[in-house]
Amino acid sequence: MKTIGIIGGMSWESSAAYYRLINQHAKSRLGGHHNARSLMVTVDFAPIEAAQRAGDWDGLGHRLAAAAKQLEAGGADMVLLATNTMHRVYEAIEAAVAIPFLHIADPSGMALQVAGIEKVALLGTRYTMEQDFYIGRLRGKFGLDVLVPDEIQRSEVHRVIYDELCHGDIRPESRDAYRAIIEVLAARGAQAVILGCTEIGLLIEPEDAMLPLFDTAALHAQAAVDWAIDTK
Ligand code: GLU
Repeated sequence: MKTIGIIGGMSWESSAAYYRLINQHAKSRLGGHHNARSLMVTVDFAPIEAAQRAGDWDGLGHRLAAAAKQLEAGGADMVLLATNTMHRVYEAIEAAVAIPFLHIADPSGMALQVAGIEKVALLGTRYTMEQDFYIGRLRGKFGLDVLVPDEIQRSEVHRVIYDELCHGDIRPESRDAYRAIIEVLAARGAQAVILGCTEIGLLIEPEDAMLPLFDTAALHAQAAVDWAIDTK
């Protein structure tokens, strides 16, 4: 089995979930006392979050490229960046190492294609919902028509992520707000929802929503484990 390298800490609440998802999937594939071989470099989220707000994407690319190099030096066979937002700078990370990088949008894009979904809603941070780096990939690589909430609802989705979920603060009223936002997106024609932020799976589960959910963190973690087990 290959060793999965994880760049975590953005936020650590979702990195903890990744760790569980990765090991659960390895156990479900291999049984017994098996778990995944992995290595995690945890960055401090405070300066990352401040640099996001300042729009210092070049600086962020350098920081995360350094984390990927640490993983490679530690013996990781692949790099997993455990946040959607920071895929804004994935090229800088991928270019810094010789080991493969598994983009977080790809396992979800493939799963949506297999499910025959054409029009999908995207929930994530403001950066993910408003900039082209993420929607452009879903559109260009997987032919998906991507809908995002309106400005007021995008602000609410973003606020809940940074002010609550990244602090492990899970509130029923925020779950209700997300549910209402999904209802509006369904009325606009969305056939499914991409949970395009690694913390959203901490707040809503399939039974909370009227549309099928594609959780990028869970699908990313599973794809990494499949790669680690199946690559010779
Ligand atoms: N984990 C989040 C994401 O998947 C947001 C936190 C961050 O900005 O990295 O986008």
